[in-house]
Amino acid sequence: MRSFAGASELTPSQLREAPVHWPRPSVLDVSIQALPGVGPKLAEAAAEAGLATVGDLLYRVPHSYRDRADVRDLASLEPGEEATVMVEVVGSQPRPFRKRGGLSILTAKVADESGSARATWFNQPWLADKLIPGTALLLVGSRDKRGLRVSAHEILATAGGEEGSPRTNTPARPQDSPPPLQRPADGVPPGIHTTGLVPVHSATEALKPQRIREWAWQACQWASNAIEGLPAEIRARRSLAGAGDAIRAAHFPENEDELATARERLAFEELFLHQAILATRKRTHRIARPAPRFGKPGEMVGRWIDSLPFELTRDQLGALDDVDADLDRGEPMQRLLMGEVGSGKTVVAVYAMLRALEAGFQAVLMAPTETLAEQHAITLGRLLAAEATPFALLSGATPAAVRKRALDQLASGELGLIVGTHALIEPTVRFARLGLSVVDEQHRFGVEQRRALDAKGVEGMAPHVLHMTATPIPRTLSLTAYGDLDTTALRQLPAGRMPVETSLVGEDERAGAYEFVRERLREGRQAFVVCPLVAESDKFPGKAAEVEAERLRLGELREFSVGVLHGQMPSAQKAEAMRAFAAGETDVLVATTVIEVGIDVANATVMVIEGAERFGVSQLHQLRGRVGRGEHASQCLLFAEEAGELARKRLRAVAGERDGFKLAEVDLGLRGEGEILGTRQHGLPRFAVASLPEDMAVLIAAREEILALLRSHGSLEDPALGPLLDAARRRFGAGAADPIPL
Ligand code: ADP
Ligand code: MG
Repeated sequence: MRSFAGASELTPSQLREAPVHWPRPSVLDVSIQALPGVGPKLAEAAAEAGLATVGDLLYRVPHSYRDRADVRDLASLEPGEEATVMVEVVGSQPRPFRKRGGLSILTAKVADESGSARATWFNQPWLADKLIPGTALLLVGSRDKRGLRVSAHEILATAGGEEGSPRTNTPARPQDSPPPLQRPADGVPPGIHTTGLVPVHSATEALKPQRIREWAWQACQWASNAIEGLPAEIRARRSLAGAGDAIRAAHFPENEDELATARERLAFEELFLHQAILATRKRTHRIARPAPRFGKPGEMVGRWIDSLPFELTRDQLGALDDVDADLDRGEPMQRLLMGEVGSGKTVVAVYAMLRALEAGFQAVLMAPTETLAEQHAITLGRLLAAEATPFALLSGATPAAVRKRALDQLASGELGLIVGTHALIEPTVRFARLGLSVVDEQHRFGVEQRRALDAKGVEGMAPHVLHMTATPIPRTLSLTAYGDLDTTALRQLPAGRMPVETSLVGEDERAGAYEFVRERLREGRQAFVVCPLVAESDKFPGKAAEVEAERLRLGELREFSVGVLHGQMPSAQKAEAMRAFAAGETDVLVATTVIEVGIDVANATVMVIEGAERFGVSQLHQLRGRVGRGEHASQCLLFAEEAGELARKRLRAVAGERDGFKLAEVDLGLRGEGEILGTRQHGLPRFAVASLPEDMAVLIAAREEILALLRSHGSLEDPALGPLLDAARRRFGAGAADPIPL
């Protein structure tokens, strides 16, 4: 690569000789129809595959490479071995023939200096005309008893030898940029399909790899028009190759080293530009509307913390510091507070709400369901008991009179705190001075709902927002998909929580496992049995739980009292089942995932999960959080009848890892390995070269560089940063820098 950036200064003569590019980014927008041999029909198929322009081709780097570095002697091939050979057609002109069944076969005698062999092509009868004796060929094929079975070929020179065959192991590579907008030379040099590191681009039904490879080769002649989005200083300091050269080398590398250098630059650039977009988005959103400054925490919240019946954990104290800093910045807080159920998020939320109150503003806590809102109201009542701070609960179930009173008091400013469901975002709910909102389980609200709450702030101001989630979001995701939120994690569980020992139990150990459960029950403990939803009972998901409960009552657990809990039961019956279990009247609760939230029974120490392979990693982790809440050691037993290898890996990860965040990261890695779709559902952007979570270190480095640029330049719009944002917007879409609604 010629424009490799180094720290050394160039001498005047080196400078004179250095290749000077005058990139014209508009060339990247030229339709691929500009390439020789691409008509409207092919162009349409290409556009469907996302390859509409020269730029699309350049940035669609190969997903892998076949190493054809060695052109081998025919005689040296072992049976079964696949290799590239350079040969000449000898003997007489071949003639195709058909076998019974319609397979067309063409064989030709070929030879190099080491010997000769019979080469066979299937279903390409038209080649016969081209295989005139004397024609030089590059063949990729595998050796078998009969000769060489050809899987790819290139004609190097026709008999008589006009084209001049390269007796070299690597093909000529696209090097110099032709004058912009002039068509590259027709034809592609021989060897690109059969020698050296042969690039493999993702193909489609209509576009075979060979065709895309030829297009890529042609497009590469325009590669020096790629926008150099990396500031020169960063490129020099990190020794990163130039944009055009890296693209060319990624498509057609001379060797492994060059390939690694090229891909390193491209991966860094992708993550860097993506972080640039996120940073810009975050800024745009935050400076659109200012937020009230709450100043420093005062006496009232200090008294409140002292009144709590427990010591805050180190993570909780850290979260309060984060919140304090956010609330005094004049920009709206947009913080995501992550922590498993029971990690003490509500304490942090109440703290933020009290800070609003103290600063003379109102605060709201919104939860996705009535049950959760009610639970929050109970927790709030407990936590605010010492100060006797008034608050109201607003949900669909709130009686009209109570509702009216609450709305009047909110509008007048008499009432400072309110907890509720999405009933809170209705237009009739008006605040006198809303300064802060807490959104619990934020992913369960739509963009519109969160925006509606945001719009209820003081005229011209945005309220501060604290988002909460019990789903651990791995760092890879929080830095990319959620890159515009600041994050705080509560990893430490409050004192007194016992770790849950988790094991994967084989079907042959089932009897022993139930003996273990019975022992715990005889000691006076309680147990959960969780059943997955099964396909046949989709219409009635509770059925699996009812059937299993009946089975256990008659079988393994006949000495004990067994209750059932599932989503289809009437509310009163559900409440009764929970009450009976909490009171210890039932020993065992057979349930669907409804127990994920809301049940807190310290005496329950065993959880059996049936069909564990049907649950997600995070879900299993949440489920087992229902045990280990008291003084006794707790166990979680995972049964998985029909788990495949990948599912087993995930279950072993759950058994081996207690940290929900690490587990989420492992899960993301395994999903990436197993199914691209899963990764996308997780919200990870898809990068062409970078791959996450493997490139985590590069991601962090790229992010640091962007943060440093923001510190030193104030904004990425600074002209001194050159076309950085242009490059970023081009890469990640035109609207990519619009503020996203939070
Ligand atoms: P989350 O909202 O994260 O599920 P909560 O805030 O509801 O968790 O806390 C769960 C329980 O733990 C509550 O009863 C709460 O009062 C208690 N708790 C919170 N923080 C602590 C702490 N530092 N030490 C002991 N108990 C705590
Ligand atoms: Mg909670």
